[in-house]
Amino acid sequence: MPTTKNYACKTCDFSFDSPSGLGQHVAIAHQECGVCGETFEGVDELDEHTQNSR
Ligand SMILES: [Zn+2]
Ligand SMILES: [Zn+2]
Repeated sequence: MPTTKNYACKTCDFSFDSPSGLGQHVAIAHQECGVCGETFEGVDELDEHTQNSR
């Protein structure tokens, strides 16, 4: 069964067959800092980063 996944994540190597799948992945897996733009693997890591740079 061929898989055509045209929506590749820019942050990691995952790719998806729909924009919604990609969007969901990014929302869950990649939390972006609003200050410096750095991305994190989850809410916890972003939380820690945000608190440290306060
Ligand atoms: Zn990703
Ligand atoms: Zn930051």
